[in-house]
Amino acid sequence: MSRCEACGLAKTRTQTVFMDGTAARKLLFVGEAPGADEDRQGVPFVGRAGQLLTDIIVKGMGIPRQEVAIANVLKCRPPDNREPTPAEKATCTPWLDRQVELLDPAVIVPLGRHAAMHVLRVEASMGAMRGQVHAKDGRQIVPTYHPAYLLRSPGEKKECWKDIQLAMGVLGMPVPARPGGGSLGEAR
Ligand code: URA
Repeated sequence: MSRCEACGLAKTRTQTVFMDGTAARKLLFVGEAPGADEDRQGVPFVGRAGQLLTDIIVKGMGIPRQEVAIANVLKCRPPDNREPTPAEKATCTPWLDRQVELLDPAVIVPLGRHAAMHVLRVEASMGAMRGQVHAKDGRQIVPTYHPAYLLRSPGEKKECWKDIQLAMGVLGMPVPARPGGGSLGEAR
């Protein structure tokens, strides 16, 4: 994958961004595409949105970040953080599909609309997809808001926390009533 030149993003990327973490918890988070920090470091979700995702995992779920797997729909940064094009998604997602096969997660949490639509193979709004557990190809899919969206709309953090609680329930994890004593700064 690190040598992929199947689309134009190969010309503008610093490097490909494969994944982070492990399948220890049988849980995979799927984001949209690397941003500037991820492109520089070669690791998904290490910028501001990444810090929020890390807080959700560590303070909210109460587990180390390295116990979950984190990947993206696109493996290369779109210039200026624009949205992935349909052609880029079609070209790149075989990498993600193979990652899912190899990691074999019981639960996938797609972060944002692009990830949710690809994982569920539907065209729908985020509002129509989140807030519930979908069964797909023998896995449980629990879409939630993208952390970058939550940074812009912090009032939605409580809805994200409900989704994370759903995912934890499916995984048989004990669910704390409030994430990390409220340290995710959810609107109350
Ligand atoms: N946003 C994403 O969707 N993925 C990343 O890796 C970082 C930010």
